[in-house]
Amino acid sequence: MGDRELNLLRAVAEIGRIPDVRITALSGFYDTEPVSPVPQDPFINAVLRCEVSMRPYQLLDELQRIETEVFRRKRDVPQGPRTMDLDILFFDDLVISDIRLTIPHPRLHQRRFVLVPLCEIAPDLVHPLICSSVKEILESLPGEERVVRV
Ligand code: AMP
Repeated sequence: MGDRELNLLRAVAEIGRIPDVRITALSGFYDTEPVSPVPQDPFINAVLRCEVSMRPYQLLDELQRIETEVFRRKRDVPQGPRTMDLDILFFDDLVISDIRLTIPHPRLHQRRFVLVPLCEIAPDLVHPLICSSVKEILESLPGEERVVRV
């Protein structure tokens, strides 16, 4: 919601300000069709890569702090419109599945709006559970969700 490109730039800057985080790649910004049962305006999505010296749960804490404090995100309508949504897609080749955190992100392999920007910065990254590269997963994805580089 709001000025989507400005919000996304702000999010990148805020992630870059987290202590012990160094951003090493950033995809283009993509205007994307919402994939949700709740009707809403298009999103803008991007993927970044960073080097971190913290555990995945600490990183999630930091991302949620940015969503809440910087973007004043409220979780009123599940899957509804939002000012910002920060997700961890991969963390090295770690596999985690518990109540708070699932890594790799459980739906990334089904979402063109994730795979297209991800493929821009990490086409050869291998999904540790699917054992295919991002590029291969994207090429085999059915469907036609709109994902257009801004
Ligand atoms: P969302 O509505 O997409 O922001 O979902 C946020 C919830 O998903 C939080 O309660 C997180 O604990 C949980 N979650 C599980 N896995 C992840 C992940 N890989 N990245 C971000 N949030 C996650």
